[in-house]
Amino acid sequence: DGSEVTADMVDDIARKHYPACMRNLHDCLRRDRHLKHFGRLQYGLFLKVLGLSIDEAILFWRKSFSNIQDDKFNKEYRYNIRHSFGLEGKRANYAAKSCQQILLADQPGTSDNHGCPYRHFAPENLQTALLSMYSSQGLTSADLPEIMHTVKNGHYHVACTRVFEITHSRQVSKGEGIGGGESVTHPNQYVTKSRELEV
Ligand code: SF4
Repeated sequence: DGSEVTADMVDDIARKHYPACMRNLHDCLRRDRHLKHFGRLQYGLFLKVLGLSIDEAILFWRKSFSNIQDDKFNKEYRYNIRHSFGLEGKRANYAAKSCQQILLADQPGTSDNHGCPYRHFAPENLQTALLSMYSSQGLTSADLPEIMHTVKNGHYHVACTRVFEITHSRQVSKGEGIGGGESVTHPNQYVTKSRELEV
């Protein structure tokens, strides 16, 4: 909706409204106080489109990387954050990555946290992660077989859409997707729809 999101609001929005890819990046960032390059890129562009200004984005990353000195932060990270906002280098206005791009490009290695959990997590890890992310929003282990069946057939965004329906079951019914039968194609579309349903 274009209204500004501050660094302080991110934890709350993450807990209530993020798709699994971004929730995983956020939780890993909180746990490790760090994210590797592709994780920072995937999450950073998402946060920009979510509505963080450049100042709030720098504040967010500075606070999140809490075990490094200002010096190191300024040298190694500040430029890249400004770059992703189109304020450095060739000043390109980078779009946040779509599901398609996240699913197909830059495959994560074992120590990476970027990617799509529906595609890139091992089945047992995915089930554990989904319960930990979404049980407070109504997802139960009884929902998992259907989701895992969809994942097994390679329909990752369909699984993600089903999780959206389950975690918003007071507002959308099965088959309605994120609203009007639409399915998830972009993490920012997921978070926007989820936030709209809250108000
Ligand atoms: Fe993220 Fe898209 Fe995967 Fe959902 S389907 S977790 S929004 S990449």
